[in-house]
Amino acid sequence: MPRSKAASAAPASSGRVLELIRTGEAATRTEIGRLTGLSRPAVALRVTELLRHGLVTEGATAPSSGGRPPARLEFNAAGGVVLSAVLGISRSQAAVYDLGGGLLAVAGGSPEVEHGPHIALPWLLETWQRLLEECGRSAADVRGSGIGVPGTVEFATGRTETPPVLAGWGGVDIAPLVAERFAAPVVVDNDVNAMALGEHRAVHPGVGDLLFVKVSTGIGAGVVAGGALLRGSLGAAGEIGHIPVRDGGGTPCRCGNTDCLEAVAAGPALLERMAEQGRPVAGVAELAGLAQEGDPDAVRLVRQAGRRLGEVLAGAVNLLNPEVIVLGGLLGRAHDHLVAGVREVVFKRSIPLATRQLRVVGNRSGEQAGLRGAAAAVLESVLAPEAVNARIAAQR
Ligand SMILES: [Zn+2]
Repeated sequence: MPRSKAASAAPASSGRVLELIRTGEAATRTEIGRLTGLSRPAVALRVTELLRHGLVTEGATAPSSGGRPPARLEFNAAGGVVLSAVLGISRSQAAVYDLGGGLLAVAGGSPEVEHGPHIALPWLLETWQRLLEECGRSAADVRGSGIGVPGTVEFATGRTETPPVLAGWGGVDIAPLVAERFAAPVVVDNDVNAMALGEHRAVHPGVGDLLFVKVSTGIGAGVVAGGALLRGSLGAAGEIGHIPVRDGGGTPCRCGNTDCLEAVAAGPALLERMAEQGRPVAGVAELAGLAQEGDPDAVRLVRQAGRRLGEVLAGAVNLLNPEVIVLGGLLGRAHDHLVAGVREVVFKRSIPLATRQLRVVGNRSGEQAGLRGAAAAVLESVLAPEAVNARIAAQR
């Protein structure tokens, strides 16, 4: 006879009880007891601890079949805040979220990220401080910070790799610099991973396996597998921009190789093609706009970029069998044509079972996908049962 989950596992901790309340699986002490197998006194002890730490509140009463109605327990989203940021070459964003992932304040700026962290980080710390004040909070309320950076990050250490476009950012330990000002855990990740997580949590929360592809100045992907980000052993998973394509014509790439997907299908390559045709365009966003308006040159180029992308994604689909591929980034704004190009190749070249339920769609969570994802990453880390238990133990 199969043993029940409650009976086979260790007794549920306060952190696990918080998780049940936070996810809405349990709203009363009785329900917690039923789901965890804990005795009434054990449930009471954990709930008292969570109430004392301001992590849950006791709200209006729950419906009852008779007798004294049970008190309704709710996760206290206002019990703290997390800071979130996405640093980008042309534009950076910073925000404050409550513990339930609700946006409290947001700001954008152009802190010249390409000149290195000595310019971008002071901007970020000052902006966060200002946003905290705007929503009537202080540094003491901060439970964690999540930051997406444009480049590869060795995830366990939060250290940036030397990214070819961001010379000043090689080997920078961002986390300690942030934690000096806001003493709480810091999660640093690559910006595409943050966007993938944000898009997943906001638009496709029920989807297990999703691939988010950012097509802008560069090309990168974030892989959500089984509902969680797949980062690989060090954090380099999803670097599809440097997978070679066929018939690339020996195009040199900034990484030193030739015929990388990024070298032939990202924004700069398309802008170059437009210029060669005597149609100079100021930037990738403008090109995407032209394509969406139906400009034949722009449509042809974006569609061709989609096919190139599809060539690489066909392999990714066979490898990962995602349910959804989301196309984002500046060129993703021309999603009608980019999606068409990708579909044309992926559905021809991937195996039928891998594409039977596959959907290829545009980014729907908009410009705040990365901010939301960076906040989600840090929230999921600081609200994980083990992290909650450790925090409670430290304050005992
Ligand atoms: Zn390359």
